[in-house]
Formats: sequence, structure tokens, C-alpha cells
Amino acid sequence: MRLIFLGPPGAGKGTQAERIAQRYGIQQLSTGNMLRAAVAAKTPVGLAAKDIMARGDLVPDEVVVEIISQRIDEPDCANGFILDGFPRTVAQAEALEGLLEDKGMALDGVVELSVDDTILIERIEKRARETAGGPRADDNADALKTRLDVYHAQTAPLISFYRNKGQLRAVDGMADIDAVSEQIVAVLEKAEA
Ligand code: ADP
Repeated sequence: MRLIFLGPPGAGKGTQAERIAQRYGIQQLSTGNMLRAAVAAKTPVGLAAKDIMARGDLVPDEVVVEIISQRIDEPDCANGFILDGFPRTVAQAEALEGLLEDKGMALDGVVELSVDDTILIERIEKRARETAGGPRADDNADALKTRLDVYHAQTAPLISFYRNKGQLRAVDGMADIDAVSEQIVAVLEKAEA
């Protein structure tokens, strides 16, 4: 199974992707986690991405497209994967279509987690307070505002992009964690049937 999880920062994509990936025995591929690892390891990609990420802006499309293209070729992705935080722009979505086609892979669906902005801000502020080892570089008020603005301007258009292709499965991301997971499983199984 090959899925995309789409939604604003703080929607719970990471939490849900981890659970659903485990349930179906597929890989969770978070571009945010991969980029944070690159920053920590001071690789060339990490050095270039560090300040962009801290501001809450997007790293260049070609950088993340290349990371994902290589990652999904690895043997542990043979069973499938959940793309968590990718694509984030229409250009990334179009590049993904091309590279999946080249690899002879098809997408099974796009799960959209919808959450109101006021709740997102509360969740991220809570995460910033509770993260062991201190908050992420981009979990502060300025970067958060940028991340939400970037989401609405650049990523939200993907909702209609995938709806027009009949691939969108919308889920209410404001319920509690277990209830959201159950809804995701329900929409995926309905789509399979
Ligand atoms: P969140 O969803 O909470 O904003 P992520 O961990 O998904 O956090 O992403 C953190 C940051 O990593 C983004 O703000 C951006 O700078 C960078 N990033 C992650 N995925 C992408 C992507 N697909 N395209 C461009 N930048 C990305």
C-alpha cells in the first residue's frame, strides 16, 4: 500500500502515519524527519536546509523530490509506504506522479487530516513545551506563523489536486488519537472494497 498523508503542521500526520504504517507493515517516510537528521549530521543537504527550516519555509522542491525518489527504491519500501510531509507543493506532487510512473508504482490514496488553525497553534505550543531536549528549531511563534501561511498558500492546493483525481480521503483530525486512527483505517478499507 502506498499512501500520502496530507495536512497542516500539527495535524497529527506523524503520529497517525507511524500507527498506520505499523498496522499495515509499511514504511513511514517523513521528509521533515529525514531533513532534521541531515541537519543534525551536517550533510550538504542539511547545511543548506538548516536556516530555511528554522524559519518555517520550504526547502527547494528538487531536494525533497530526490530524497524521496531514492528512499522509495530501498528494499524496506517494497511492501509500501506512507509519505508524511511530502508532497507539499503542486510541483512536488507532479514530480511524484512522474517518478512513481517511471518506477511502475501506483498510489493507493491520499489521506487528508483536517484541523482548525486555532487548534494547531495550541498543539504545537504544547509540543514545544513538552519535547524532551528542548523544542524543535521551528516550534516558535514566528516560524509557526510562517509554516501555517506556507501550508495555506502552497500545500492546501493539493487537496483539490487530489480530490480532482478521485484520490482524496478526508478525515477529521480533531478527534482523539485513537478515533482518528480508526477513521483512517475505515476510509482506507472502504476505498479497497
Ligand atoms: P510540520 O508538518 O510540523 O511543519 P515537518 O517535520 O513535516 O513539520 O517539516 C518541517 C520542515 O521541514 C518544514 O517546515 C520544511 O522546512 C521542511 N520540509 C519537510 N518536508 C518538506 C517538503 N516536502 N518540501 C519542502 N520542505 C519540507
